[in-house]
Parts: sequence; structure tokens; C-alpha cells
Amino acid sequence: MPIGEFDLIAKFFTRSVTRAALGVGDDCALFAASAGMQLAVSSDMLVEGRHFLPTVLPQRLGHKALAVNLSDLAACGAKPMAFTLALALPRVDEVFLDGFARGLLALADAHGCELVGGDTTQGPLNICITVFGEVPTGEALLRSGARPGDDLYVSGTLGDARLALEVFRGQLALAGAAFEAVRCAMEQPQPRVALGLALRGVASSAIDVSDGLLGDLAHVLRRSGVGAEVQVDAMPRSDVMRALPEALQRECTLSGGDDYELVFTAAPQHAARIAAAALTSQVNVTRIGAISAATGLRLIDRDGRAVVNTFGSFDHFKS
Ligand code: ADP
Ligand code: MG
Repeated sequence: MPIGEFDLIAKFFTRSVTRAALGVGDDCALFAASAGMQLAVSSDMLVEGRHFLPTVLPQRLGHKALAVNLSDLAACGAKPMAFTLALALPRVDEVFLDGFARGLLALADAHGCELVGGDTTQGPLNICITVFGEVPTGEALLRSGARPGDDLYVSGTLGDARLALEVFRGQLALAGAAFEAVRCAMEQPQPRVALGLALRGVASSAIDVSDGLLGDLAHVLRRSGVGAEVQVDAMPRSDVMRALPEALQRECTLSGGDDYELVFTAAPQHAARIAAAALTSQVNVTRIGAISAATGLRLIDRDGRAVVNTFGSFDHFKS
């Protein structure tokens, strides 16, 4: 006999809370932000066949569902507090649920982010998480703060998740450790929460890269009313990426998507503080360009020559 909705919630998604006043089990969860803090709230939905492949291990899917949400808190410089989980499941598959819950809750524990509620229904596999974080009032990192003269930075490396997608699509051949590395980038991204916190008061703007670097950077430029010059050959890349043809490297690092790295800007006098933030959060940070008063995006190569921007951005209604 398959277990029912309420047994399922009790078995896989009910945990004691410490940060929240009330977690799973009542009509609402209850919790408060600390004094002097604003709540930062974000939702992200993952749909099978659109955001993940049916072949993904449940544990990795649980991790990714929360990771993409924590990445939004990171981009705002907010500290994770709690989250809710709305789940549509085609059937009650306890093996799937056990793996999914383990991956999800391991990442939640690593970030001190409590599961406080949700909703469960039957339907095509669909996962919607809402995260709640807190940030000192007025200190959230926003897309709108980039200023002419600011340096432009990105964390980690770019494009590996796109390489994995191309392998799954049969467009690229990678095997062994190389495939495992890019698959891990796609299925288990590490949200840059510590970096986001360290960038408060230092970065002038930030966004996380979910749809491709250039596309997401364009949001910052538009919101800030500025432009940028981007050095296409400065994009940080993995060893796997470096071994591939240069055209593919550019395509994947500039417009790959699913990276969950932070792109951010800071005044040049903050360069040492950026380096310190990278060190304390144990993630590489690379300068990839600068913000200009002239609007628009200019791409240049390592020799300073203009590169035509043929790089798209991921759009769920166009791709
Ligand atoms: P309601 O009928 O008020 O919508 P439900 O019966 O759907 O409440 O849920 C019962 C309790 O279980 C609530 O506290 C809800 O937040 C929680 N809950 C339901 N689904 C999940 C889930 N997938 N993960 C965590 N908590 C859940
Ligand atoms: Mg309900």
C-alpha cells in the first residue's frame, strides 16, 4: 500500500525547527527576521524536462532545487533562514522521495536553512521552493547599483553546466572524469552564499548567473542605466573547458546558463576587499571587465579587438 499525502509529509519533510517559531504541521509557519533586518524572499520552480532530465539522481535533484533558490539569496547578500517546498509528484515513490529529501536537507543543513512548510499534490513532477533570508535593512545587493568606472567580476568558473547539457543532447562527447565534472556542475551547483554575504557593503550590484553571463549581465546594465566592456577571453573556465575548441569555450562561458555563479560590480578602490571576500568565502573571483557610462555591451578579445556579440541568452519561451 502506498503511503498517503500526510504520511509522506510526516516521513520525508517534517523536521523540528530551531530558527522558526513554528514549522510543518499547522496552516502557516511562523518566524521573524532579526531586529534591524529585512526579509529577502525568492521562489524558483523546477519542471521535469525543462529544468532537469528524468535521469537525474533524486539526491542531486533535491540539492539543485534548493541550490538555485539559495543562489538568489546569495545574489542579494542575504543570509538563508527558511524555505517552503511545493511538490507535485506523479506517484508516491519512496525511493525517489528518500533520495530527494536527503539531497535537499543536506544542503539546507549546510546553510542553516529550515524547511518550514509547503504543499504536496499529485501531478507531473514539479518542484517549487520559496526561500526566506535576511539582510540588514538597506544593505541588500541589487541589480541597480552598478556605476561607471566599477570593475566587473564573476565567481567560480562558467559554462560547465552547458557542456553537460550538450553531452546529454548528444552534441558533445566527454567521458570519464571530464563528464563527471561537468555533470556535477549541472546537477549540484554550489550556491555562493558566503561570497554574497562577504560582498555586502563592498559590491555595488550583483546578480546570479542562471540564464547565461551576458544575458544576466544585461539585466544589471539595464537596471543600473549603464553599459559594460567585457573581456571575452578573461572568462574563468575549468580544465575540461580549456581543452575544448575556443569557439565552444566562448559560447558556453558567455551564454551557457545554469552556472549559479555571482556576477557583481565594485568600485576599483575596493579591489583588495573583493580579494579578501573571495578568500574568506573560498571561491575564486575573476575580473572580467568594467562598467561604462555609455550604455550597451561591448565585447573585446585578448588583443583588445572588438568581438561581435552573437551570444544568446537562455529564454524558456524561445529555447
Ligand atoms: P493546507 O491544507 O493548509 O494547505 P496541507 O494539508 O497541504 O495544509 O499541509 C499540512 C502541513 O504540511 C502544512 O504545515 C504544510 O506547510 C506542510 N507541508 C505540505 N507539503 C509539504 C512539503 N512538501 N514539504 C514541507 N511541508 C509540507
Ligand atoms: Mg495543501
